[in-house]
This record gives sequence, structure tokens and C-alpha cells, in this order.
Amino acid sequence: MPIERTLAIIKPDAVAAGNAGHIIALLEREGFEIVAMKKVTLTEAQARAFYAVHRARPFYDSLVRFMTSGPVIPVVLEREDAISALRKVMGATNPANAEPGTVRKLYATDIEKNAIHGSDAPGTAAVEKPFFFSSLELG
Ligand code: ATP
Ligand code: MG
Repeated sequence: MPIERTLAIIKPDAVAAGNAGHIIALLEREGFEIVAMKKVTLTEAQARAFYAVHRARPFYDSLVRFMTSGPVIPVVLEREDAISALRKVMGATNPANAEPGTVRKLYATDIEKNAIHGSDAPGTAAVEKPFFFSSLELG
């Protein structure tokens, strides 16, 4: 399996609840190395752009409101097979369906306020990392 980098975002619900450190610790225990990390509050335009793939979905406006409701912590993570490994440790979008021990089972509130984002494929990781981080920050 190749060493990869992926983008996670600790979402506003998890940051506000004080769970960011717990989630980072869980990811480190799963073998992810932190390459870059910052805390930012997205503007409405930035949140709309980041989740543009969902612009036709009924939950889009609510998702944009949620993602701009407070600070988020984007993190670039590195490990073997990072993209699919992160999706696995995140758990299902709806925490009711998430496996025990996953981030969403432990820390999500509902299908929208679900604690973490992760890039879902190499192509999305390639777009999402530079959305938040410069080449200087990513070395
Ligand atoms: P993410 O893209 O944030 O990593 P995901 O890939 O598991 O999550 P997507 O289908 O891409 O899920 O949806 C993006 C986000 O939109 C979800 O994580 C969640 O916050 C919100 N969302 C998805 N489906 C719903 C829904 N039915 N109702 C409300 N919010 C939803
Ligand atoms: Mg997604």
C-alpha cells in the first residue's frame, strides 16, 4: 500500500464541544502523522465552494450554515493508504450507522453534525489539501 496524504476537517460541532484533541489523538493512534494543521472559520462562499459537489442536495444550505457556524480545524494527514484508512476510522456519515470506535460513533451528534470530514478519493484529496494549505505548509 502506498504512503498517501489526505485532508480531514474537524467540524464546528466537534471543535465547539472540545473534542478536537480527542479526535486528533484517535487519528494518531491509528497511525496518521500530522503534516499540517490550522484553525479557521469558513466564510459562506468558502463553505459553498468546498461542498459544491452537494449544491443540488436538499441539505446543502443547512450544511453551509453548519460549516460556517464556528471554527473548524483542517488537518493534512499522512500514512499508508491514508485516504481509505481515514474514511474507515471516520465511520458512516450517519453516526447511527457508524461502527463502534469510529470518530463519528464516538463524537457525532447526527447525520449533519458529524464531527469530521475526510477526502473520499485521490482526486478529491488533491483538490482539498490546497484548498486550506499552501505548498510551503505542505513541504
Ligand atoms: P464528508 O464529505 O463531510 O466527509 P461524507 O462523505 O460522509 O462526509 P457526504 O455525503 O459527502 O458525506 O455529505 C457531506 C456532509 O453533508 C456530511 O458529512 C454531513 O455533514 C452532511 N449531510 C450529508 N447527508 C445529509 C443529510 N441527509 N442531511 C443533513 N446533512 C447531511
Ligand atoms: Mg463527502
